[in-house]
Amino acid sequence: MLHVQLVLSPPAGRLHADGMFDVHVHAAPDIWERAADDREIVRWYREAGFTGCVLKGHYDATAGRAVAAGRDAGLQVFGGQVLNQHAGGINPSAVAAALAMGARMIWMPTADAHTQQAAGLPRLCCVDGGVSDTTYAIPPVDPGTEEAVRRIVAMIAEADAVLATGHLSTAEVAWLLPVARSAGVHRLLMTHPSYTVPDMSEDDAAELASVHGALAEVTAYQLLHQPGCDAARLAAFVRRVGYRNVVLSSDAGQPDSPPPPQALTQLVDALAGEGLDRQALLACASEIPERLVVP
Ligand SMILES: [Zn+2]
Repeated sequence: MLHVQLVLSPPAGRLHADGMFDVHVHAAPDIWERAADDREIVRWYREAGFTGCVLKGHYDATAGRAVAAGRDAGLQVFGGQVLNQHAGGINPSAVAAALAMGARMIWMPTADAHTQQAAGLPRLCCVDGGVSDTTYAIPPVDPGTEEAVRRIVAMIAEADAVLATGHLSTAEVAWLLPVARSAGVHRLLMTHPSYTVPDMSEDDAAELASVHGALAEVTAYQLLHQPGCDAARLAAFVRRVGYRNVVLSSDAGQPDSPPPPQALTQLVDALAGEGLDRQALLACASEIPERLVVP
C-alpha cells in the first residue's frame, strides 16, 4: 500500500507572482506522496497572488476535486482527466464523463504511455504488483486507437476544452495536433516537450507550435529534477520556440520540490538569469496559460 503523508508547510516569504496561472500541479490525494492536499496548495497560490491553477492527477480525475478546492478560494481552480489505465486508457467514455463534469484539460496518457515504460520512469505497476503494466499509444505507433482518438478529439472540440499531449512520443504528437486542429480543437498544449518523455527536439517543438498553433510547456520540475537539464537548456528551448508559444508551469507538488508557487517563480528567475526577457517570461506564466484554459 502507498501512504500519502501530508507536509503542511506554508510558503515562506512574499512572492512576486501576481497574476500567475499554473496549468500543472500535483496535490494529495495521489498514489505518490505530495507536498499538500488540494485546498492547501490552492491556498498557497492565493497567498502568492495567482489567478488560477489546474490540478493534475495521473491516476485520478480532478474536475470534481477542482470544484471542491476552488469554492470560495479566491482564484480559479480547474481539473481534468489523464487517459491512463484508471480511465481505461484511450477511452471516449471517460472523456465524455470528465467533460460533462467540467474538466478543462484532457491529457493523453502519461504514466501509462508506452514512452514512460520505455524510459523506465515510475508507474503504479512498479510499486503494486497487482496492477497490470498495460501501456497506451496512438497513431502512428498504434493505428488501432485512431477511431477512439478521433472521437475524443471531437468531444474536446465540442466542449472547447484543452487537449494536452501527455507523454506521447514526438511522432504521435505530430499526428495528433493536425487531427485535433481539423476537428476544431483550438486549445492545444504540448506537455513538457523537452522533458525525458517525450524528449522532443527544440526544432520539432518549434515547428509543431508554429504550424499547428500548439503551445509548448516548460516546467519547474524539469529545472529541479530532470537529469541533464539546466536553466541554460530550458532557456535555449524557450528562445527557439518563441515566447508567444510557451507556457511556463510548475509541475510541482513533490515533497522534495519547493511549494508550487515558489517553484514557478524560481523557473521564471532561472530563465531570466539566462538573459531571457522577464516581462515576456511573466506572460508565459500568466496571460498565456490563463487564455489557454479559461473558457
Ligand atoms: Zn505532472
